[in-house]
Amino acid sequence: MAKVSDKCSFCGRSRSEVSLLIAGVSGNICDQCADQAYDIVKDSLPKSKTKPGKLGFTKKDLPAPQQIKNYLDQYVIGQDDAKKYLSVAVFNHYKRLLQDVTEDDVEIEKSNIIMVGRTGTGKTLLARTIANRLHVPFTIVDATVLTEAGYVGEDIESILTRLLQASDYNVDAAERGIVFIDEIDKIARKGDNPSITRDVSGEGVQQGLLKLLEGSIVNVPPQGGRKHPDQKMIPVNTKNILFICGGAFDGIERKIAQRLNTRAVGYGAAAGRKDIDVENLLQYITPTDLKSFGLIPEIIGRLPILTYLNPLDKDTLRRILTEPKNSIVKQYIKLFKMDDIDLQFDEEVFDYIVEKALEFKLGARGLRSIAESIMMDAMFEMPSTGEKNLHITLDYAKEKLGKANMDRLRQD
Ligand code: ADP
Repeated sequence: MAKVSDKCSFCGRSRSEVSLLIAGVSGNICDQCADQAYDIVKDSLPKSKTKPGKLGFTKKDLPAPQQIKNYLDQYVIGQDDAKKYLSVAVFNHYKRLLQDVTEDDVEIEKSNIIMVGRTGTGKTLLARTIANRLHVPFTIVDATVLTEAGYVGEDIESILTRLLQASDYNVDAAERGIVFIDEIDKIARKGDNPSITRDVSGEGVQQGLLKLLEGSIVNVPPQGGRKHPDQKMIPVNTKNILFICGGAFDGIERKIAQRLNTRAVGYGAAAGRKDIDVENLLQYITPTDLKSFGLIPEIIGRLPILTYLNPLDKDTLRRILTEPKNSIVKQYIKLFKMDDIDLQFDEEVFDYIVEKALEFKLGARGLRSIAESIMMDAMFEMPSTGEKNLHITLDYAKEKLGKANMDRLRQD
């Protein structure tokens, strides 16, 4: 067989003139021609033919809702209702991506989610854990930084910049990712009359969010920030991006109570009212309450799955401390083990940490800061002392926490 020459068979440049020359059976191709060829193929063939496995998964790869919930159970304590709703919504969302619309006229619609629950009850943790399980790009954005285009703050499109960054600018991957929009309640309309002053961080932002939630092609500034005219934009289709919104909706209980009371007046009222658990009114939340709170109906319509999180009681906090797969306690044990130190806790230490978290109204986030105060001295000293055992007793915990400045913890 004749020796293949040392030139690109497409452009004729020699090996020394190009960065890479790939040899074929009877010719070569240089890196630049390969690039060009790729572009030609991409532009000439329908998208589905160039990337047969664009979605990266098939129906049988999709975990069933029960499996998704089982996975969530390993990391998130309690919140069974929210887990169930999320598992089903996410399962349906990814089934929707696999649907063949040409088969019949039924088109499965998007099922974006809204979770209502006090801060620190696990909303972000749930969304993040689901994204981990599905191996899809995930990002968290805070709705409070968003403002209407033309005002100080971030443009709505910056939400997608973060998602692109999370997927290393792989647009296909970003287009089936999950975005968690935190503090959605903070963009609620402030008053009943929207026209008195310009509500740049309220209704305007909600309007801007609409097109993202429903699915459209959005031009995204690759580096985020404000858009400027000569910046190159990346078009991103949000049709298959799942949006999960979360918010504390402080005070919404009052709206729920009002609604329940009004409904409870009249026939069957007495019986109905008896069943209401006034300690946890969020479980009765409906889209109407979101509207009374100041979300515009169009936004509510695009977040069809509404679920709630329970406040964390003593038992739940206690379980959060030790049970999740990467619980705080398991993390400390691992940290010490890396220095060959055997760390043990007395059970009553856990009760003490929970009591303090409740006393100072620190919630689940406080568990970590309290534990950190207790463990700090040991983490500082032990790697140098050579001691191989650490036993945390109640007295030890009390002494260490006594020295800590609780005010500092409170601001956490
Ligand atoms: P939210 O988004 O509702 O404000 P997060 O999900 O950020 O709250 O929760 C804060 C932290 O508290 C989490 O990182 C986690 O360590 C812990 N946490 C809160 N709720 C739970 C829960 N139900 N199960 C396990 N850990 C939890």
